[in-house]
Amino acid sequence: MKNNNTYETIIGLEVHVQLSTKSKAYCTDPNLFGENPNTCVSPISAGYPGTLPKINEEVIKSAIKLGLALNCNITEYNLYARKNYFYPDLPKGYQITQDTTPICTGGHVEIKDTNNKVKKIGLTRIHMEEDAGKSIHDLDPFYSLIDLNRAGVPLLEIVSEPELRSPEEAYAYLYEVRKLVRYLDISNGNMEEGSLRCDANISVRPKGSKKLLNRVEVKNINSLKNVMKAIQLESQRQIKAYTNALNVDQETRNYNASTNTTTILRSKEEAHDYRYFTEPDIPPVIIKDELISRIKKDMPTLPKERYLKYTEKYKLSDYDANLLTENKDFSDLFNKIVKHTNKYKTVANLMMGTMKSYVNENSISINEIDIKPQDIAELAEMIHDNKVSHIVVSQKLFPEMTNTTMSPNQIAQQKGWIQKNDQESIDNLVEKVIAKYPEKVMEYKNGNKNLLGLFMGEIMRETKGKLNPKTINTVLKNKLMQ
Ligand code: MN
Repeated sequence: MKNNNTYETIIGLEVHVQLSTKSKAYCTDPNLFGENPNTCVSPISAGYPGTLPKINEEVIKSAIKLGLALNCNITEYNLYARKNYFYPDLPKGYQITQDTTPICTGGHVEIKDTNNKVKKIGLTRIHMEEDAGKSIHDLDPFYSLIDLNRAGVPLLEIVSEPELRSPEEAYAYLYEVRKLVRYLDISNGNMEEGSLRCDANISVRPKGSKKLLNRVEVKNINSLKNVMKAIQLESQRQIKAYTNALNVDQETRNYNASTNTTTILRSKEEAHDYRYFTEPDIPPVIIKDELISRIKKDMPTLPKERYLKYTEKYKLSDYDANLLTENKDFSDLFNKIVKHTNKYKTVANLMMGTMKSYVNENSISINEIDIKPQDIAELAEMIHDNKVSHIVVSQKLFPEMTNTTMSPNQIAQQKGWIQKNDQESIDNLVEKVIAKYPEKVMEYKNGNKNLLGLFMGEIMRETKGKLNPKTINTVLKNKLMQ
């Protein structure tokens, strides 16, 4: 579509983070996923008249953690509010949320734009609220079923300013939010289970224009990839409408992942439709500075700080530092290993190569690898000193380390896996293979450098991984040119 380049897309995201507290937001019902329907429900979750909600301190602490991590202002005087609407999975007839005093304001999420430059996406607010139950429409042919296990589960809603400009930026934003809630250990961030949900406010406008046109809210985006797809789809739809001199109505649309389409849910609604008023059953919550500083002290080092340490102090590449900090457990283990060695790059390679494959192949988490960090450090030293070949490490030595308390050095000695840097045997092997293929040697000398692989392959088969391939390679090249 020729007109695509003349429009820009304006995106703001509303992200709901389901917290992994033990109990629900306003009562002691367990907060569990995947239980039998309606088994985590007391009269409070079921919305019986006359029951009283009470606040869960862990929800407040989680909100403060997230707020601090995103450089927000933490609100001292917090009120709760009722947001009134009818839905069968909302038995009270209202949601307890926050209206005029969200617990966090301001702050930003840092993403990298398409040119790998840091871009700060401003936040409007983060507020605390509760989830609704679940209506199930596709299990029974005649009835809709209601499961109230999710009713009252604590949520943080993160509202961004309309500062995202492309589907890719929205993806990066959501990716950062997910990474952060996992680092802070306040949510599992799993979009497929609904622990992280995203609604996107999307509008388009002619490039250069400062005016915001009608926006459309797209709901039910349930994966990172679908965030991009839904935004792409909706901005195309709006551009097409304007190109054909049609209007775009301010409305809420539903994203359907199986058909990759959006359909209208409801037309324009306004905040006053919900008749917000202060929740009379929960007294105001005052957040003291002392609580904030206590939480600050217990916060883990965030991915951004770790990235800086890895690139500046350990001199790792941008690529390595990003990979290592993607997952907190990986990064934590890396930090433990490098207390015993300064071969940072070798440790990074070992973790992202051999160890990551091992974890994936065995469907376990990195924490389930039962090897002492100092043993992994020792292994990195051995690799660095060319004492063991990469093939031996990934196929034999590392798997063996998971079965024994012996150090990698002891294992390799005992099994005869130590790689020899034996100059004489390397010379012999190289000469043998050169003698075996005289015509190929001529071809190589005449410029067919691809033949190096053939010679290397032949020699490596003979060495059974015990001789250092780097040395062989150098010796071979020298002898071939003699
Ligand atoms: Mn909400």
